[in-house]
Amino acid sequence: MRKPVIAGNWKMFKTVGDSVATAVALKPLVANANHCEIVITPVFTALKSVADRLEGSNIKVAAQNCAAEQREGAFTGEVAAFMIRDAGCSHVIVGHSERRQYYSDSDEVVSRKTHAGLAAGLTVIVCVGETLEQRDQGSAERVVREQLVWGLTGLTASDLDRIIVAYEPVWAIGTGRTATPEQAQEMHAFIRRVFAEGHSEAAANALRILYGGSVKPDNIAGLMRKADIDGALVGGASLNAESFAQIVNYK
Ligand code: PEP
Repeated sequence: MRKPVIAGNWKMFKTVGDSVATAVALKPLVANANHCEIVITPVFTALKSVADRLEGSNIKVAAQNCAAEQREGAFTGEVAAFMIRDAGCSHVIVGHSERRQYYSDSDEVVSRKTHAGLAAGLTVIVCVGETLEQRDQGSAERVVREQLVWGLTGLTASDLDRIIVAYEPVWAIGTGRTATPEQAQEMHAFIRRVFAEGHSEAAANALRILYGGSVKPDNIAGLMRKADIDGALVGGASLNAESFAQIVNYK
């Protein structure tokens, strides 16, 4: 039985004060949500304050990115995964399409970041997804397979329970255009098959695969009814405590 994960990606929004206020507002709204794991992802500067305020609650804190380098050193502007752990986080997102698109995070870099996150003891949410052009050209599965094979390369069996995959079709992120539950299910089932080929049937069955792309309170339930959709990575609708709580409490 896979426990669903509902994760909010706050992107580059909110000051420290706003982040803490949203986290504090969210806490009572999701206090009874035992059916899923809840993760929120503030900006780096707010991680420690938010994690401190949420200690002992059922809300976990993630970073949106981490350095590919595992040890501290002369890497100006980077934050190592172990520093993210030290700030009170349990998760990190790697390979988000905005990182791939605007900051040139290649499949190789995503793979190094995945390893860095795991080495620091974090659970890593690895994002994959095709662009509209790639989908229209019929290459969505090829693109996602490549991202998966790279992103998950060199992982041992014991790493796998700290890996979560987020399927985020780029054309659905921040556009208001959600993949239909059927489109998402089809790709999630494909991802599970690719994972089984690379690892094992048992590992593939245990893998949580989140859908991301314009998830809202009114479309989450339909997505969650699909067999291979194990949760959501939510951008815009996670910025507001009430709307994110409605998504978490989709049942
Ligand atoms: C995201 O940022 O991961 C995302 C899915 O954004 P949105 O929900 O706004 O499409």
